[in-house]
Amino acid sequence: MQNHVMNTYGRMPVNFVSGAGSYLTDSEGKTYFDGLTGIAVCGLGHAHPHVAEALAHQAKTLLHTSNLYEIPLQTKLANRLCERSGMDNAFFCNSGAEANEAAIKLARLKGNNEGIKSPSIVVVDGSFHGRTMATLTATGNRKVHAGFEPLLSGFVRAPFNDIAAVEAIAANNPSVVAVMVEPILGEGGIYIPDDAYLTSLRAICDANNWLLIADEVQSGNARTGKFFAYQHTDILPDVVTTAKGLGNGMPIGVCLARGAAANLFVPGNHGSTFGGNPMACAAANAVLDVIDAEGLEERALVLGERIQNGLREELAGRNDIKEIRGAGLMLAVEMHQDIGGYAAKALEQGLLINVTQGNIIRMLPPLTMTDAEADELVSRVVDLIKN
Ligand SMILES: *Cc1c(COP(=O)(O)O)cnc(C)c1O
Repeated sequence: MQNHVMNTYGRMPVNFVSGAGSYLTDSEGKTYFDGLTGIAVCGLGHAHPHVAEALAHQAKTLLHTSNLYEIPLQTKLANRLCERSGMDNAFFCNSGAEANEAAIKLARLKGNNEGIKSPSIVVVDGSFHGRTMATLTATGNRKVHAGFEPLLSGFVRAPFNDIAAVEAIAANNPSVVAVMVEPILGEGGIYIPDDAYLTSLRAICDANNWLLIADEVQSGNARTGKFFAYQHTDILPDVVTTAKGLGNGMPIGVCLARGAAANLFVPGNHGSTFGGNPMACAAANAVLDVIDAEGLEERALVLGERIQNGLREELAGRNDIKEIRGAGLMLAVEMHQDIGGYAAKALEQGLLINVTQGNIIRMLPPLTMTDAEADELVSRVVDLIKN
């Protein structure tokens, strides 16, 4: 078939026609274990009945009005997200990049309101924040920048997990207004910083009147065993962004903020045509219902432990394994050698995983897996590595 879609993705030669829970079926009738959930999007698995029901009902009732009018489902979602995050207000949009754009605009607005010339934001090497001009500039990966120069000004880079580097920036750079970090690097390869990292960043932000912005686009929505990954610590960020798992496949993003940052935007500063429309909010409200009803934060922890233990046991003694790591159901097996062909090999074996950085198997499986399905994921990944 002729294909007029722009060539922005290296696509695999498979076409899924339906899904149920942890499994997908392709156009030839072959089934696959979905160990990736569309990159941490379908955290409740495919065709979850409560989400499907909520969407079918909403589709028959009202898809969209406008942010010119009140949207009770949006207010309800904002209230629920603020209650579980410790944030005060929410701005809704349609993607992770847009949520981060809102956070960047908040930080710049704070700086400009305070008379800081050219306010800048500290960002981290190895991070991923999106593909818009501001968020690709914030991203700490040269490959994402390449060809799109000039990048935006107003970003200062620090190595990941390096508090001394951020302290040095604080000492030398009076234009900084915020630090933006992923509590766990996702696209960068599931790297988990030292326990004290976020707490130390919080202290630096407090001492310098900076905003701490947590990009939880991937790590949020119960994936790591708490609703947000920063909730494994005692600190609160000033701004939290999320998207991927929030709508279980309906596009929705949110920028949450606390304290003074929660009231920075006023009418005319920022907006979105689709952001937080009734359909997207019906999906996200249904996702929150299920996370609570099925205890998925706790399940993500239990399943993550089970999978890591299983992989450690089955892969013990192999000298091609560099590290098995994870937080809840953000999981990685880092190999010593290049495993560029593994995603295709896995696909052939009926398993969806992803390879990042050339040598890291990344798994982002459904939070709704049974124990038996978690064990199946372990044995399939072990098969992939051994055969
Ligand atoms: C995926 C991702 C983004 C970008 O989200 P989009 O919805 O693709 O714009 C931003 N930050 C993190 C941490 C992500 O994983």
